[in-house]
Amino acid sequence: MKDWLNDLSKVANFVVAVGDCATWGGIPAMSPNPSESQGLQFLKRQKGGFLGKDFHSLSGLPVINIPGCPAHPDWITQILVAIATGRISDISLDELHRPETFFKSFTQTGCTRNVHFAYKASTAEFGQRKGCLFYDLGCRGPMTHSSCNRILWNRVSSKTRAGMPCIGCTEPEFPFHDLKPGTVFKTQTVMGVPKELPTGVNKKNYALLTMVAKDSMPAWAEEDFFTV
Ligand code: SF4
Repeated sequence: MKDWLNDLSKVANFVVAVGDCATWGGIPAMSPNPSESQGLQFLKRQKGGFLGKDFHSLSGLPVINIPGCPAHPDWITQILVAIATGRISDISLDELHRPETFFKSFTQTGCTRNVHFAYKASTAEFGQRKGCLFYDLGCRGPMTHSSCNRILWNRVSSKTRAGMPCIGCTEPEFPFHDLKPGTVFKTQTVMGVPKELPTGVNKKNYALLTMVAKDSMPAWAEEDFFTV
């Protein structure tokens, strides 16, 4: 496979890495990384990877990264169609070479549980229809770049819509925990405050927000978690 990659990357007009293993190394690259796995142009967040940090395909573009475990089929097909129809120049890449159109916003954007997030109305069980999964089940929606709630899976759903917390699988650090039961789907806290806060929110503001949100929570936000 390495020989193929070496040979093909020299003559390819475009190189697209699909999925976490190809983009950042993914689960196989977890420390201590016995297989010395790496992505095509990154190892986790560090630029370099198998093809090296200076690699550009014949088109002049670096490796286009479409992360995810798994990557969303619509992200893959839309990028391949953009390449095939000569429209890839319309797409800008972020510093991790991800197409911004899919990875600029957070998983939380478009989540049906946002109103519960705002009032800190938590759900502690998988599969419940209402309540936010951040406070008890470790949802990473507020700090993960993906469009899972804007471009739905199979056009109908997403993890959070189905009651499963976002596990941050589009970020280079995935998996964030050691995958032991009891750590993955549980919010890690220090003195009751989540260890990791939504991107851009500091601890002091979070505490303030919590107080206001809890005080303002309307009764309906806590009720009726089991019905539509
Ligand atoms: S924390 Fe998760 S479940 Fe809650 S609103 Fe954000 S994405 Fe949705």
